[in-house]
Amino acid sequence: MRKLHSSDNPLFLPDMELVDTYRRHLNYLRVSVTDRCNLQCIYCIPQGRIKNLPHAEVLRYEVILRIVRIGVHLGISKVRITGGEPLVRKGIYGFLGKLNAIKGLKDVSLTTNGTLLKNNLKKIREAGIKRLNISLDTLDPDKFRRITRHDRFSEVWDGIMKAHEMGFSPIKLNAVILRGINDDEILDLARLSLEYPFHVRFIEYMPIGDSGIINGKTILTPEIKNSLRELGELTAVRNTVIDGPAQRFRFENALGEVGFISAISHHFCHTCNRLRLTASGQLRPCLLADTEFDLKGPLRRGYLDRDLAEVFFKTARFKQREHHLAVSHPSKVAGRMSAIGG
Ligand code: SAM
Repeated sequence: MRKLHSSDNPLFLPDMELVDTYRRHLNYLRVSVTDRCNLQCIYCIPQGRIKNLPHAEVLRYEVILRIVRIGVHLGISKVRITGGEPLVRKGIYGFLGKLNAIKGLKDVSLTTNGTLLKNNLKKIREAGIKRLNISLDTLDPDKFRRITRHDRFSEVWDGIMKAHEMGFSPIKLNAVILRGINDDEILDLARLSLEYPFHVRFIEYMPIGDSGIINGKTILTPEIKNSLRELGELTAVRNTVIDGPAQRFRFENALGEVGFISAISHHFCHTCNRLRLTASGQLRPCLLADTEFDLKGPLRRGYLDRDLAEVFFKTARFKQREHHLAVSHPSKVAGRMSAIGG
């Protein structure tokens, strides 16, 4: 662990930065604020009734803010809010504002399914959020209903358009591509990057939890990239520090970009700088490994900030060199994506 240079230490925390066994600096925390979602995407949530966390088991906002403050002292500089669907949680906009005000936190962003965006964009902007990631797997309302089990395409699309008009930038549109379901829309989705300054990102389906998706639906990045040739040549765009694992490209004269998030075909583990906080208060070193460390228990027992910082260090120590999900070995990660926080 590297010593921090900061001299102010109001929390009496160890002056150490989070660096794992493989010398990766962990400066990015994904925070799931709820496991509840108002959609039920077929690749994310199993069909039928699902058991959500009782409200009392979900971390309170003040507690999340305390955990983030500790993380920031240990070198976390970027936080993404996710879920479940973060915008279904009451009080989210006030929370986002308080999160953004944390000293030392350089970047706060939000991942949403877009259903509740349109009428809340002003509040999101007032909370200091400038960048949005919105899930959009299809441009066809019927298919949207089949994929998400809800008839809400137009709300999502209107939300995306309004966010664009209001100047949110970049707007990243995340599409999980599944064979026989939305692979016929790869070109249409990519075309959005010609017309709008959107970053359209194609995500490889990961076998997480019991979503009921059968093997064989996964389409890997090389195949997607290949089909994009029809639209023209792709030129690589250099990643910046806040980009994360997407490989970025641009078509000639396009206003936006296309990107690929290839957790299966192209391990980006060597550059992984993330930890995850689940809605139930577990700190996870990796989305794709079933290891997690409890913060909620220690919090309830009144532990001090420095004890909670120890949980961060322990989680960092358990971060594996790489995940072991592969198409040829479709081992499953237990738990739903919506519960862990995608
Ligand atoms: N509700 C928000 C949303 O829809 O963006 C945030 C949570 S959602 C779990 C976050 C992201 O995870 C979405 O872009 C979704 O498409 C992606 N996702 C969910 N299950 C996945 C899976 N099995 N493989 C790959 N991506 C998945």
